[in-house]
Amino acid sequence: MRRISVFGATGSIGESTFDLLMRQGGPSAYRTVALTGGRNTRRLAEQARALRAEIAVTAHDDCLPDLRAALSGTGIETAAGAGALIEAADRPADWIMSGIVGAAGLAPGFRALRHGTTLALANKESLVTAGPLLMAEAARHGARILPVDSEHSAIFQSLLGDDLSAVETVTITASGGAFRDWPLERLAGATVAEASSHPNWAMGQRITIDSASMFNKALEVIETREYFGFAPDQIRVLIHPQSLVHALVTFRDGGMMGHLGMPDMRHAIGYALNWPERVHLPVARLDLASIGTLTFQEPDPVRYPALELARQVMVTRGHAGAAFNAAKESALDAFIEGRIGFTAMAGVVAETLTRLSAGTGLGNPVTSLDNVLDMDAEARRVAEGIMAQRKV
Ligand code: NDP
Repeated sequence: MRRISVFGATGSIGESTFDLLMRQGGPSAYRTVALTGGRNTRRLAEQARALRAEIAVTAHDDCLPDLRAALSGTGIETAAGAGALIEAADRPADWIMSGIVGAAGLAPGFRALRHGTTLALANKESLVTAGPLLMAEAARHGARILPVDSEHSAIFQSLLGDDLSAVETVTITASGGAFRDWPLERLAGATVAEASSHPNWAMGQRITIDSASMFNKALEVIETREYFGFAPDQIRVLIHPQSLVHALVTFRDGGMMGHLGMPDMRHAIGYALNWPERVHLPVARLDLASIGTLTFQEPDPVRYPALELARQVMVTRGHAGAAFNAAKESALDAFIEGRIGFTAMAGVVAETLTRLSAGTGLGNPVTSLDNVLDMDAEARRVAEGIMAQRKV
């Protein structure tokens, strides 16, 4: 029986994964090794019972008593904390969903690779912060990383049967987020509630706000560079308000392969879960005749400054991705907590990168996870300092 683990099981990606696992036979088809979550211990316990997991892990020590109580008498082990997440990743599994949000997802996924697992990677921050390290670790241990981000799954699928060297450009699409059609002058006053609603995709709050600012697309551009190895000028972004074309690959003979589908993450997750087979998936089918029109436009660099920052990160490479992501996470925390405005986030990230590039090490090659985590901590410290100085 195939052994599986789901990291971030209680989140948006985790719930979609759980849904597919249950539809595909649940505990009679899979041996569930570990399920992990954060504060939602009630849901984590429900999932652990349904899949008869060996262990359920919460990221937070103070949540352990609740988790234990919810699973008492089931024989399911419980544990808490960052160390317990790593230990859970050390339990061999054939397929692991990396669905934790943020840089916290890096270490468990990295550890799982040493067991030669197949890592279904939704946690884009892993590739952004430590791409070369992650890919080398996978190669060293014969592990496989399968992209779960819809755009990257789309590129992966569009490339089937073709050689990477035949690719001229790849285009990833973006809905434009909640504020695509807002007048620019309104953006500074955008609220957290307004930024937390996505026109097409139902996702976690953080990625939804990152879609409005296009920091999510910026992360995806870097992720594309790290996963597929394309040069920065081969990677393009187009606004596509319908979110039905997820990515396009243009080959050197002028042909273009595109991947289309309804905006439902269960396609990309299900593809990674069943790869290399395609199985029936419970996603709505695209009815192009009823949709009628698909539209595309260039993103406005003034509205979406995060995209230019992504270019800079790809050129600097090294630890710039870790710095970029950490500064972005700090700025996003501050926005959610009401400490800074929506448009201030990009300024905080840009200034953090500028300050860090004045020191040493930003462009140094990524050689260890510790160095990545050090840069992550340093960038958060610098970003917090900038926000404290600005008092925005
Ligand atoms: P959610 O916020 O919905 O879920 C995050 C999960 O991680 C939850 O299980 C949460 O636990 C857990 N978690 C939160 N903080 C920590 C922490 N510090 N340590 C360990 N676990 C933690 O996020 P999404 O599912 O939206 O996104 C997950 C990842 O997938 C992100 O990297 C995102 O960019 C990527 N992604 C998401 C897509 C989507 O459609 N949602 C699409 C493509 C990529 P709890 O809720 O119990 O506190």
